[in-house]
Amino acid sequence: MVADFVIVGGGAAGAATAWHLVSRGHSVVILERYARGHARGSSHGSTRIFRVSYREEIYSRLAGAAIPLWRQLERESGETLLEQSGQLDHGVTSAIDEIEANLRAGGWSCDRLTPDQAHERWPGMVFDQSVIYSPDGGRVFADRTIAALLRLAEAGGADLRFEDPALGLEPCAEGVRVRTSGDAITARGVIVTAGAWLPTIEGLDAFGIDLPPLRVTAQAPVHFAIRPGFSFPSYVHHAGTDAVDHTFDYGAYGLESPGEGVKVGLDSMELVPDLSARTLEVSPGAIEAAVDYARQWLPGADTDRATAVSCLFTMTGDSHFLLDRRGPVVVCSPCSGHGFKFTPILGALIADVALGGDPWASEWKLPA
Ligand SMILES: Cc1cc2nc3c(=O)[nH]c(=O)nc-3n(C[C@H](O)[C@H](O)[C@H](O)COP(=O)(O)OP(=O)(O)OC[C@H]3O[C@@H](n4cnc5c(N)ncnc54)[C@H](O)[C@@H]3O)c2cc1C
Repeated sequence: MVADFVIVGGGAAGAATAWHLVSRGHSVVILERYARGHARGSSHGSTRIFRVSYREEIYSRLAGAAIPLWRQLERESGETLLEQSGQLDHGVTSAIDEIEANLRAGGWSCDRLTPDQAHERWPGMVFDQSVIYSPDGGRVFADRTIAALLRLAEAGGADLRFEDPALGLEPCAEGVRVRTSGDAITARGVIVTAGAWLPTIEGLDAFGIDLPPLRVTAQAPVHFAIRPGFSFPSYVHHAGTDAVDHTFDYGAYGLESPGEGVKVGLDSMELVPDLSARTLEVSPGAIEAAVDYARQWLPGADTDRATAVSCLFTMTGDSHFLLDRRGPVVVCSPCSGHGFKFTPILGALIADVALGGDPWASEWKLPA
């Protein structure tokens, strides 16, 4: 036995799981396909929205439960990682009504604003229908979070192996044998947090793991320089009537990223059929769509100064998360475009599951 656990994938999910397992006294090897700080997965970039303003109670509760763990991670790492600088939802009234009902039921504070009131407060944005402000939302710093988690895991004894992909899993007497390009590693358990690559991991079926269909798309969030005198909260724009809350396929989202400007994210349908053939190039069409959006909705954004990056969304059919265990193997893909805000609590949940616990019976009472 080389380690108690092997974690396949060192993005948000894998790094947070390593942090928890190491702090609970377990030995961990992280296998990461690419170099430290790479930009080929879902977790790179400076910022992500943090919000409790969901329509569904479970996600508001989970985000709320993540806050003390974000603060713990900040204390341990000495970094500022979560800023509760406020967050707006605006757009279709039925969506905003549901968010308000959920926030009030959960005891979260919120302010309903008219479009004029919201524009007066954030003149860099325009609003047409309904608006709700959540002071508990804000932003988290993504690159800094991953770096902090990996640093803490390493300080706690984790063996981090970059540019060292897991080539396949096999059952063995000790639990799982993980093939790599070097020596195989045996472990009591394996946690597969390989994001968009999850379906490519060989040997999952030998443990009875039958993954649901996952849709991988390349997203191209665009940062615009901010015109002098403007600032932006984190925002989600609910532009469609028939969408569910926790996905982004209903309009746009964005936030101010220090030093980079204001982000505009529009849901892209650009499927990635072959990850190994993917380039990080962003199509001119994706940038044009963000420019069109910003011209209409963000007068405080300078649409002549734009930078775009490519990033992967991995969506389940219902846009919820995937977290399951079969014997010694846990698979988790948090996921579906809205996972980062939960990073420290997902690490705790994944660690619980890997150690044989039942998160559905835990204090977080996840839906079955
Ligand atoms: C554009 C964009 C905007 C987003 N905005 C928000 C937001 O505002 N708020 C929010 O909460 N969430 C947001 N998200 C979602 C959030 O970022 C993701 O849910 C989260 O980063 C997923 O992390 P992960 O660890 O599952 O995947 P990843 O970060 O992709 O990590 C998987 C890792 O596995 C590695 N890997 C793959 N195969 C192997 C192998 N065989 N062996 C070893 N390693 C392997 C990969 O190299 C990768 O590093 C956004 C995502 C994107 C793309």
